[in-house]
Amino acid sequence: MKESFPELDFQRKKGNFYYFDSAATTLKPASVIKAVSDYYSQDNANTRRGFYPLALNADKICEGIREKVRKFIGAKYITECIFTHGATEGLNILAQSIAKSFLKADDEVIISQLEHHSSLLPWRETGAKIKILPCSLETGEIRPEDFKKLISSKSKVLVLTPDSNVIGRTKNFEKLVKIAKEHELIIVADCAQAVAHQRLDLDKSGIDFAAFSGHKMYAEMGIGVLYGRQELLEKMQPQLYGGEMVEDVLNINNIQLAELPYRFEAGTINLGGIVSLGAAIDFMKGIDLEPLSKTLKVILANNPYLKLIGEPEGPIVSFQLEDIHPHDVAQILASDGICVRAGYHCAQPLLEEIGPVTRVSLGVHNTEEDIEYLAKKLATIRQRMGYA
Ligand code: PMP
Repeated sequence: MKESFPELDFQRKKGNFYYFDSAATTLKPASVIKAVSDYYSQDNANTRRGFYPLALNADKICEGIREKVRKFIGAKYITECIFTHGATEGLNILAQSIAKSFLKADDEVIISQLEHHSSLLPWRETGAKIKILPCSLETGEIRPEDFKKLISSKSKVLVLTPDSNVIGRTKNFEKLVKIAKEHELIIVADCAQAVAHQRLDLDKSGIDFAAFSGHKMYAEMGIGVLYGRQELLEKMQPQLYGGEMVEDVLNINNIQLAELPYRFEAGTINLGGIVSLGAAIDFMKGIDLEPLSKTLKVILANNPYLKLIGEPEGPIVSFQLEDIHPHDVAQILASDGICVRAGYHCAQPLLEEIGPVTRVSLGVHNTEEDIEYLAKKLATIRQRMGYA
């Protein structure tokens, strides 16, 4: 698998290079880079604007990949898959649009404590009343009883990620979604992390809206997907206005929106990014990070000074090393050629209570030897910082 990533080869010629930051962004496989290069060398044109063969071909490429995305995320209709520039944009569009279309004054939005700032802060801007759904700081678990207690007749939306960027997979996710459904809440899922290592089956899952970025699943930066159930999208006002999202502008007071999904795709879409997304979906077929994720936890658990945060499941694992600030951990590891992330991870409602952490996240290029090297270097840090 390592040979699929030219950046690994390039960096390793300069020295040690162990990349454990796929949750920030994944390295890019050669097949994705080639697909994008081929697109810009041969097929580049704007979509839905031209009648010449190159432009019509761009439309074909775009819609072909939209169908590939539909299958990949388990959406029912192709019209439910909207291209954006990333998860953050998608989550902002959703918050604004859901608030305007479905919420009345005093209606409540329930947001889990596990959310990334990109999933939390857009709701603050809507003026809706926000209730935070807490998780256990020990296990990371959100208890169904706590959720039920929080729901009132004013509750309209649940915002819940299937995979936290700090502690990995959300425990009880399915149970919480079921409770939300029973109370007829709209369910918004930030799938920015989940898309890289969970099988999303959005139509069957009960999730109403989801958003993710391509760059965390081996595609380019600057491309993302927003998913919404067709019957809800049909009732929603777009947030972004501009070219190709309207059928007619008869006069400034009389416009007719384009059909779904185009009314949510104002302006030129990132077709190069879409091509990279298509190639990334092909690349990801058959990938399973589960065995290596288990190995990571077993090996890290051998360090008596290391505390894992929240009983993590999946390839995202955060920890604290006794006496050592995570920034020091990350800097010392960097001097050994190891890339990890440290700090508050844009998830302060969770980490203010736990404190800053170091995060290791796996990608498909990682191996057991990589993890052993990481564990070996981690074991030296306290001593290098002057502790016994
Ligand atoms: N949600 C989660 C859980 C994330 O980890 C991230 C990226 N760190 C985002 C949302 C935002 O993604 P992007 O920066 O690609 O828009």
